[in-house]
Amino acid sequence: MIRDNTKVIQIGDRQIGGGNPVLIQSMCNTKTEDVKATVQQIHRLEEAGCDIIRVAVPTMEAAMALKEIKKHIHIPLVADIHFDYRLAIASIECGADKIRINPGNIGSGERVAAVVEKAKEYGVPIRVGVNSGSLEKPLIEKYGGVTAEGIVESALEKVGMIERLGYDNLVISIKSSDVMMCIKAHELIAKKTRYPLHVGITESGTVLSGNIKSALGLGVILYQGIGDTIRVSLTGDPVEEVRSAKLILKTLGLKKGGVEVVSCPTCGRTRIDLIGLAGQVEEMVKDFDLDIKVAVMGCVVNGPGEAREADLGIAGGVGEGLIFSRGQILKKLPEDQLLAGLREELMKMVK
Ligand code: SF4
Repeated sequence: MIRDNTKVIQIGDRQIGGGNPVLIQSMCNTKTEDVKATVQQIHRLEEAGCDIIRVAVPTMEAAMALKEIKKHIHIPLVADIHFDYRLAIASIECGADKIRINPGNIGSGERVAAVVEKAKEYGVPIRVGVNSGSLEKPLIEKYGGVTAEGIVESALEKVGMIERLGYDNLVISIKSSDVMMCIKAHELIAKKTRYPLHVGITESGTVLSGNIKSALGLGVILYQGIGDTIRVSLTGDPVEEVRSAKLILKTLGLKKGGVEVVSCPTCGRTRIDLIGLAGQVEEMVKDFDLDIKVAVMGCVVNGPGEAREADLGIAGGVGEGLIFSRGQILKKLPEDQLLAGLREELMKMVK
C-alpha cells in the first residue's frame, strides 16, 4: 500500500521512501536551548513510539544545543529553520540528521547554495517545507487564491532550485490547515515527484479537532499509498501526537504491534463505570508489547459475544464481571478485581 517508487532517503539510522514503513514524527515544544527539558521530552516521545523528532532552531544557542541533545537521544534529530541560513549551517555542523527549511524564506540564492553545500558535505537530507500560509503572491494571483495547485508548484519550484545546485537528498512537505486542499495537493504532487513526502495537516487545532482533521486527512492520503513520514499536529502534549499517529497507522494496517483497545459505546444495560474502566485499561496495556486486541464491554450478557474477535476482554456486570477470550469465558471476578485479572491474563501472553 505504501508507494515504493519513491527515492530512499537516509535520516540518521532510519530510512524512508522506496516502500519503507511510514515513520512517525513529532516536534518538541520545549525551548531547544534548554537541553535538559528537550532531552526529557524526547525520551517521553521515544517511549511513546516516535521515530523522528524535530526541534525549532530559532537562535545560534539552539543550534549549538543540538550537539548535546544528540548525545542523549536515540532517534534522528531534525532541525527546523526559518529565515537565517547560518542557523541551518550551524545545525548541520552540530549533528542534525535532517534540516527543514523553506528555501523561499532563507534569503538569496547564494544563501540557499551555502546551506546546500553544507548539507552535501555532511550527507544530510533537506526537507523542503511549503505551507499554504506562506504561499508566494505570484502563485496566489496565478491560481486566484491559495490552492492545492499553487502549493504544489511552489514546492516543486524550490525542489528545482536545490536540484540545480546538484543536490537530490530531499524530502518534501506541503501543508495546509484546509484538509481537502491538503489531500488534493498530495494527490497532485505524488504524481509529479519521486521524493518521499512528509505528511501532516498543519494548525489542525486542539486535541479533539486536531485528531479528527488529521485522521481524516492523513487517512485519505495514506490510503492512496502516499506519505513516508507523518505528523499529527496537536495543540497539546506532543506525546498525544505520537499516540494518535500510531493509531492512524495501525487502523490503516500500516503499523503492527501494540495492544489495541476496543470498547462498547455503553447502553441502558451498562451497570459499571465503563468509561473509567476503558481509560484504565488503555493506560495499563501500554506496558505490554503484544499485537492483540482487548475489548472492554459494558455487560456480561452481550459483551463477550459482541467482542468475539477480541483476544482478551472484560465484561462488566453488577458487582462482578467476566474475563473472556474470543467469546469464551475464562473467569468471573468481583468488579474491583477485573483490571488486575486482565493484567494477569496479559502477563501470561507475554511469557
Ligand atoms: S456490550 Fe452490553 S452494555 Fe455494551 S453496548 Fe453492548 S449491550 Fe450495551
